Amino acid sequence: MAKNLVVGAGISGAVLASLIAEKLNEKVLLIDRRDVVGGNAYDYRDKKTGITVHKYGPHIFHTNNKEVWNYLSKYTKWHYFFLKPNAMIEGNICNIPFTLTTLYQVFSRNMAEKLEEKLIKTYGYGKKVPILQLKEQNDDDLKFLSDYIYENMFVNYTTKQWGLKPEEIDPSVTARVPVYVSHDTRYFQDKYQGIPQNGYTKMIENMLDHPNIKVKLNTDYKDVKDSFDRVFYSGAIDEYFDYKYGELPYRSLKFDIQTIDKEYYQNSVVTNYPNNYDFTRITEHKYFLDEKSDKTIISVEYPEAFEVGKNERYYPISNQKTQELYEKYKNDADKIKGLYFIGRLGGYKYYNMDLAVEKILEFFNKEINK
Ligand code: FAD
Ligand code: UDP
Repeated sequence: MAKNLVVGAGISGAVLASLIAEKLNEKVLLIDRRDVVGGNAYDYRDKKTGITVHKYGPHIFHTNNKEVWNYLSKYTKWHYFFLKPNAMIEGNICNIPFTLTTLYQVFSRNMAEKLEEKLIKTYGYGKKVPILQLKEQNDDDLKFLSDYIYENMFVNYTTKQWGLKPEEIDPSVTARVPVYVSHDTRYFQDKYQGIPQNGYTKMIENMLDHPNIKVKLNTDYKDVKDSFDRVFYSGAIDEYFDYKYGELPYRSLKFDIQTIDKEYYQNSVVTNYPNNYDFTRITEHKYFLDEKSDKTIISVEYPEAFEVGKNERYYPISNQKTQELYEKYKNDADKIKGLYFIGRLGGYKYYNMDLAVEKILEFFNKEINK
């Protein structure tokens, strides 16, 4: 029987370990250098308040992929949840993404009506328009609108988040939050959306609760002495190769988690602050699972540069240069038999959880369960 090692107990590593255990009926050792499973989706129940906290930032599961939804649904029931964040613009709370509804929150009725008509006429109701695309408009009204949204929602948030202007980062990043020609004020429109009823950590623990799976925490790959037929590595690919071609850059975050002695702090789960302060957003955790307490827990999110040994890798900084560097590592990796890089760090990709799971299901069916 093949000996399998999975490095990293995030959602990618956990799904793969469960597939090997269940579908191949093979033994698998899953290690993580942290003292918990869950990777960046890790959450925990705060003992004093009973509130479930997303330690590494707000995580909302959303997908159009029924297979992915069904796979995870074997390990959790769902708390049905639609993310409707707010943004603080010119001292007022409004909806984000910028929708037709937002027009009426930031402009006079007459002006909002005019812009609504123009947007619908130009793009059609229900269209999603990335801000950098809207900025290419020559029409005076749309030019005014795109400048307004760019200045008030995007340029300062992106500069805080990435240390770069929207034009200087991969356009797919700001396109994650397009201007939405609709009155649908949800952040995502996917068919399936929710939060695991007992949290992400519990969902992942359920996935790993199998006689073929052994989990070893506080264990770094470099401390593993045994040899394995297959190694699935969801850590950073440049670290695996001792940075021999140089470091792949990442953006990191610092979370200031605070318990506040009042029932609610803000009126939505996430409030973005594009233009004020050094943080980007504040998350109020009790909203995720509609938990009740006379106290509340918030986390204030400060972007910062990633430095090896100092903080965590969160977002790959994708551009042509970093992609070429990644490919150099990937070429070396492909030459090593039985070694596979998986997940957000292994693939150096800005994956949401659903795509991380989709990629693992696809990889398992194509490469492993042939
Ligand atoms: P990770 O979760 O990063 O897991 C990798 C694991 O490998 C870690 O536990 C790490 O400790 C371990 N590891 C690394 N190297 C080693 C080593 N050498 N030895 C041992 N262990 C090692 N997605 C959504 O779908 N919805 C959201 O709302 C959402 N919000 C997000 C908010 C933030 C702030 C961030 C940063 C991400 C968000 N995501 C969201 C994305 C989501 O976090 C990822 O898709 C998901 O965590 C990827 O899982 P993974 O297993 O590939 O990687
Ligand atoms: N963004 C912005 N202003 C906002 C929200 C998002 O400029 O109020 C930009 C920013 O560049 C950010 C990107 O859109 O990095 C993607 O935002 P998303 O909310 O998807 O980021 P995540 O939740 O993954 O951190």
